[in-house]
Amino acid sequence: MIDLHTHTFFSDGQLIPSELVQRAHAAGYTAIALTDHTDSSNIEFIVSSLVRVAADLNSHSNIRVIPGVELTHVPPEMIGTLTDLARSLGAKLIVVHGETIVEPVIGGTNSAAIRAGVDILAHPGLISDEDCRLAGDLGVTLEITARKGHSLTNGHVALRALHMGVPLVIDTDTHSPDDLITKAMALKVLLGAGIPNGKTDDIFKQSQFIVNKLCKNL
Ligand SMILES: [Zn+2]
Ligand SMILES: [Zn+2]
Repeated sequence: MIDLHTHTFFSDGQLIPSELVQRAHAAGYTAIALTDHTDSSNIEFIVSSLVRVAADLNSHSNIRVIPGVELTHVPPEMIGTLTDLARSLGAKLIVVHGETIVEPVIGGTNSAAIRAGVDILAHPGLISDEDCRLAGDLGVTLEITARKGHSLTNGHVALRALHMGVPLVIDTDTHSPDDLITKAMALKVLLGAGIPNGKTDDIFKQSQFIVNKLCKNL
């Protein structure tokens, strides 16, 4: 299993990064991204903390640990600037907290994230055809999520992305240890989103593709 969206104690996750990574490793994960909730108040702290612990764990463990952020509920006009700042501070993976239908995310967040060229637009809710097409054009990956609530629109995201050839990944958005899942469970979530059996492999391959690209620099 590869998971490119998780939270630690540094935002609202329950575990310190080392325990989350160890639990994921024990559960058979080969790579995990730590992507704590970030805005302008904590971006330096989050990125420096996760970069440091990822470097330590990558030196002493087989699981690949990718330091990232999830820009969360930030004004859409700031997403581009914060994306660039996070990258300059050392974040390898930029996730944006998309327009999930279960939270009052500011309208325009999906579009701003895609235009900023983030790596993954998480739980993009009822993403428009225009934004979906733009994600495909700009190489932004959309997320199918195993997280309760956000997953209510998985079917919509899957249908639009498959129709328009936009790459997808599946993530857990883990906040507590029980949120980590097996690859078999991830497959069930994909099938439950209406993704045909013949297309699920492409989604796991997209996660591996992102890890391979990022791990050259870890
Ligand atoms: Zn989120
Ligand atoms: Zn999240």
